[in-house]
Amino acid sequence: MKKRPTILTIAGHDPTGGAGIQADVETINSLGGHACSIITSLTAQDSRNLYSFEPVSADLIRRQFKLLHNDFEIRAIKTGMIGNHKIVETLAELFRQIPDIPVVMDPVLAAGGGSSVSDNKFVATFIQQLLPLATLATPNTQEARILSGQKTPEDCAHKLLASGCKNILITGTHEDEDDVVNRLYQEDGKSLFIESQRLPGTYHGSGCTLAGAISFYLASDHSLTNAIKLAQDYTLNSLINADNPGQGQAFPVRR
Ligand code: PLP
Repeated sequence: MKKRPTILTIAGHDPTGGAGIQADVETINSLGGHACSIITSLTAQDSRNLYSFEPVSADLIRRQFKLLHNDFEIRAIKTGMIGNHKIVETLAELFRQIPDIPVVMDPVLAAGGGSSVSDNKFVATFIQQLLPLATLATPNTQEARILSGQKTPEDCAHKLLASGCKNILITGTHEDEDDVVNRLYQEDGKSLFIESQRLPGTYHGSGCTLAGAISFYLASDHSLTNAIKLAQDYTLNSLINADNPGQGQAFPVRR
């Protein structure tokens, strides 16, 4: 029997349905994959902002991960909002045991509306323990600056690659550039800049869509650069078709 590739997403739950685990599952399923999902945090938010969140116990997450890993052939993992430094430590312990599965990390430090979902301890633990295990990290420019303490995308990337993370895709949505430029920096020194049109307005869940789609394409045996290009096309399309089911940010339509 033909099997869909299974991708495990480990992320926060956004009750609006625009971002987080629901965005990942929609993305992966619409592309033809099967999504297993582990929720790291429950959040209270509307389409404008995030107001509070409660992380899930790290022990439950470890148990869920082991059950899924024993049962499914997981072809790629995607992480999003994590919740606290204990969960970061647990994920690092688990990922060290599965070095052959590609891991795409979207280092969510703040929600779309700006509310922080990370503190200093979280950031320090993430950089020391989890980031080195990423096949690809997909910070936006703001997250890249917080994680690296550097300013330019190039300096940020060099600092983050030095942590052991293999590839960094710094997304340019938040920059004051005419087009959106996403910059890929690789451990072998190669880089690739991909430009796409800047759409008006702000979107809830665009970063989740991009990282989720990359994880699907990696699970489907595409090279990293192909996976990124295909995922960018998919994400841009979901943003062009976006709608406003709530009163705040627009939501990507993923199909
Ligand atoms: N994960 C969760 C649970 C969120 O609530 C958000 C944003 O609010 C994100 C991730 C990041 O969303 P975006 O893709 O807009 O950066």
